[in-house]
Amino acid sequence: MTESSRRHLLAVSDLTADDALRILDTARALERSLDREMKKLPTLRGRLVVNLFYESSTRTLSSFELAAKRLSADTMVLRASGSSVDKGESLRDTALTLAAYDPDVIVIRHPHIGAPQIVADATKAHVVNAGDGTHQHPTQALLDLYTIDEELGGIAGLHVAIVGDVLHSRVARSDIQALVLMGARVTVVGPPPLIPRGIESMGCEVSYDIETIKHADVVYVLRMQKERMLEGANYVPSLREYTACWGVTSERLRPGQKVMHPGPMNRGVEIDPVVADAADALIERQVRSGLVVRMAVLYDLLTHGPVEVKVAEIEEVA
Ligand code: ASP
Repeated sequence: MTESSRRHLLAVSDLTADDALRILDTARALERSLDREMKKLPTLRGRLVVNLFYESSTRTLSSFELAAKRLSADTMVLRASGSSVDKGESLRDTALTLAAYDPDVIVIRHPHIGAPQIVADATKAHVVNAGDGTHQHPTQALLDLYTIDEELGGIAGLHVAIVGDVLHSRVARSDIQALVLMGARVTVVGPPPLIPRGIESMGCEVSYDIETIKHADVVYVLRMQKERMLEGANYVPSLREYTACWGVTSERLRPGQKVMHPGPMNRGVEIDPVVADAADALIERQVRSGLVVRMAVLYDLLTHGPVEVKVAEIEEVA
């Protein structure tokens, strides 16, 4: 992260390639250190990490919770339902209330673009964007980089096809940026109504032909995000039609291609269950990466990276 943006992780653009590499190295060291019976490290003892979630989440919330706990931080989860948000409290007021507890990190997920910035402006905490509308999901991008790096032995020069509902996907936006930053070639693939106009300016290529995915090293499947689609808008004639034309099936893949999906999956819609469960699918690996990468992000922010993380150091405190 650059000097000025180091305090937060709001978007992939907060990161340089060196920042990303440092975080991946830290995640690697942490993954090794967790490979033992005693899984807790005292690194963030006495720190407070608040998870403020205004949208549903399984993987992101559970991994941030566990990441903070594995580093011995105190954690607190605040969800929109059941809190004063239900009573109409504004995001800024909620942030100010939380600020009274002096949190070190606030992890926020929110349906509106820019919500993490509001929290960053209202508090002294380090803020991590865990997904804001269709905009950004930087820790997903980092865990995807980590997964690819670990499983394919590098990122630069690889060809990644991102297929499906790119229009509504913060994962697509974050991953394109992160992959391009690390020197990968990215092609987005899907029906024209689901590919944002001008997306090439992010450094990727565009294809409206599903056959293109056969040429990639990694096929990254996106969820059909029905909850984000405007009512009445006909992005695709029907889900059945979408599956027939764009669903990722074994027939559309080449043997040995790696398949990723951020979850939650619509099995039988954007991805065939046979593909999702095949040995070349990295989907569970992504979830495991999520834990160590989020530990690395918390560590990095709270130790005011860039710091060199020595494996020995981590092992010593374990
Ligand atoms: N879980 C990811 C996200 O929060 C992907 C998805 O929802 O499709 O953006």
